[in-house]
Amino acid sequence: MHVTEHLKQAGQKPLVSFEVLPPLKGKTIQSIYEHLDPLMEFKPAFINVTYHRAETMFKKKLDGNFTQVEVRKRPGTVAICAAIRNHYKVDTVPHLICGGFSKEETENALIDLNFLGIDNVLVLRGDAAKNEASFVPYPGGHNYASDLLKQVTNLNAGLYLEDDIQNGGKTNFCIGVAGYPEKHFEAPNPEIDLSYLKEKVDAGADYVMTQMFFDNQKFFKFVEDCRAAGINVPIIPGLKPLTTKKQLTVLPRIFHVDLPTALSLAVMKCKTDAEVEQVGTEWLTQQCRELQAFGVPVLHFYTLGKPKVIKNVVSAIL
Ligand code: FAD
Repeated sequence: MHVTEHLKQAGQKPLVSFEVLPPLKGKTIQSIYEHLDPLMEFKPAFINVTYHRAETMFKKKLDGNFTQVEVRKRPGTVAICAAIRNHYKVDTVPHLICGGFSKEETENALIDLNFLGIDNVLVLRGDAAKNEASFVPYPGGHNYASDLLKQVTNLNAGLYLEDDIQNGGKTNFCIGVAGYPEKHFEAPNPEIDLSYLKEKVDAGADYVMTQMFFDNQKFFKFVEDCRAAGINVPIIPGLKPLTTKKQLTVLPRIFHVDLPTALSLAVMKCKTDAEVEQVGTEWLTQQCRELQAFGVPVLHFYTLGKPKVIKNVVSAIL
């Protein structure tokens, strides 16, 4: 079932949904189930599975020289989506990225998903590869999420890359895109960033899912700005608990988000990460209560190895 159909079923209380990462290569699907098992009692509307591009690494050879290898540390997004769907009977949303993929590979992934009965995708550009200063499109790949989105809407219309395919079978993907309450870090300013978000929505995105944020006022302002700009699709807040002191510097560096002063000061006073986890849990619970009062249809949690914290937060609000 499409994410947007789930959203229509949200009642007084918002729905919940979760994001998981594929396990590191070498681990089994069991690690995903162990991560999700404690959360399934909350009957998530859907579960997102992230996509991770291959990384270029240098490995030392026996002769002392180095050889360059491409390694995908977290493979398996499409298969994990199918496995979660079969195991828990819950809808899954694979992330699709431009970086590291040709259009042909993307089309094949979309065909796999369609055959598996998975009809949701979150389309993203992806970040720069670790050895690149800025994002470089893959040869024969897409530059921006909006280009990838057009490929998905084309397939929904039965248009395949090979134009000799006549009357091609139509897919039926519900398409989500990313939005940034604190602006995407490469955008020159929030207005221009929003104009590109509008481009994605005008090109057929069915909903927006946001980057994590720790200050609800930024989300409320973002929603207001989106509506003023004519972006009228549902906007799903992405939420993450703060659980370690280190995250005070890591989260702004990696995700380009601010941490509110009150939260930062409370974390700085903590003596252990267990205390930080307590502060982070209370902060996120309060965020969720306010978002619920604001009327969001679903609370989407980045679980990132912290299912117990998410369980405590969701237990407190539902
Ligand atoms: P885009 O929408 O393409 O935007 C990228 C930048 O280009 C922005 O600054 C935008 O303002 C600008 N822009 C957009 N269109 C144009 C245009 N036509 N001309 C000029 N500039 C333009 N990354 C992963 O690798 N795997 C994941 O699974 C993953 N999941 C994510 C889930 C969510 C909810 C979010 C918010 C992010 C996720 N990311 C993931 C990270 C994401 O890939 C990065 O933030 C990436 O840098 C931007 O992706 P995007 O889809 O927002 O890009």
